[in-house]
Amino acid sequence: MSDNSRDVLISVNLKVTKGRRAIIDLLASIAHPYDIQEIQKGLKLRHVLLDTVTVYRIIEVFIQAGIVRQIDFREGKYRYELASDHHHHFVCRNCGLIEPIHDVCVAKEQYGLIENTHGVKVEDHSLEFFGLCSKCRS
Ligand SMILES: [Zn+2]
Ligand SMILES: [Zn+2]
Repeated sequence: MSDNSRDVLISVNLKVTKGRRAIIDLLASIAHPYDIQEIQKGLKLRHVLLDTVTVYRIIEVFIQAGIVRQIDFREGKYRYELASDHHHHFVCRNCGLIEPIHDVCVAKEQYGLIENTHGVKVEDHSLEFFGLCSKCRS
């Protein structure tokens, strides 16, 4: 297991456990956000056996601590990724391909306007793009 997973847990004052470290290591290694089943499968491949309830509970703690982001790709379930790297996603409505979009973040520029108009303090946002991938559109 990586030192990084221990550091992440310590940085948000969470108890360091084997299961928590394994989930952080797994999420740090994936190319697109995983759902709970994929997380469980990925852990199994790493010889970490956790039941679904335990995985959900750990993910819930991580979301509360701000180290994991929950994403809704309109699939009727949530997907999860580490929150450390800010980006968006493109999702193909035909084949389900999920592509990270690193180069566009127009939303942050709107924080000031939203805060002035609504009297709120914006802390975060999520923004996903839906359509057809380069294969499916041709
Ligand atoms: Zn596609
Ligand atoms: Zn953004």
